Amino acid sequence: MRHLPYFCRGQVVRGFGRGSKQPGIPTAKFPEQVVDNIPADVSTGIYHGWAGVGSGVVRKTVVSIGWNPYYNNTKKSRETHIMHTFKEDFYGEILNVAIVGHLRPEENFDSLESLISAIQGDIEEAKKRLELPEHLKLKEDNFFPVPKSKIMNGH
Ligand code: ADP
Ligand code: MG
Repeated sequence: MRHLPYFCRGQVVRGFGRGSKQPGIPTAKFPEQVVDNIPADVSTGIYHGWAGVGSGVVRKTVVSIGWNPYYNNTKKSRETHIMHTFKEDFYGEILNVAIVGHLRPEENFDSLESLISAIQGDIEEAKKRLELPEHLKLKEDNFFPVPKSKIMNGH
């Protein structure tokens, strides 16, 4: 895909909170304007990438880009799951995301169980692929804000 890696940041907004935390897979939502700016050739599907909250640690991530049923599938939706257990939610914070590769196309599942097992498969696959040198190096990209403590130590 021509546009990968694709870097974007935005404020985390509240979604429908519809159970994604239930099976243990919280997905952070971006505001519509940020999603609208995704280039058209970044197709719907599941991607692997890197994400950091504010100037926090950059971690392995899976991103789903789908058609938003709320807008009769005319607009895209964007959800980011970071592979980490956070102590607290981070609504309102700036989330920085680098989408580095495509895992699979968007799919419809006939049960919650099959959806969850697909997502768990995606997470395992993403973990592996992100270890590839060309993907690993994007974790250090200047796109991600450097924590203040690191700047201080450098002086
Ligand atoms: P919503 O419908 O509001 O997106 P979710 O149940 O999908 O609700 O939970 C997403 C929220 O959970 C995020 O906006 C973020 O504040 C928080 N969160 C906690 N841990 C994570 C994580 N590992 N990845 C993504 N979001 C997380
Ligand atoms: Mg969500």
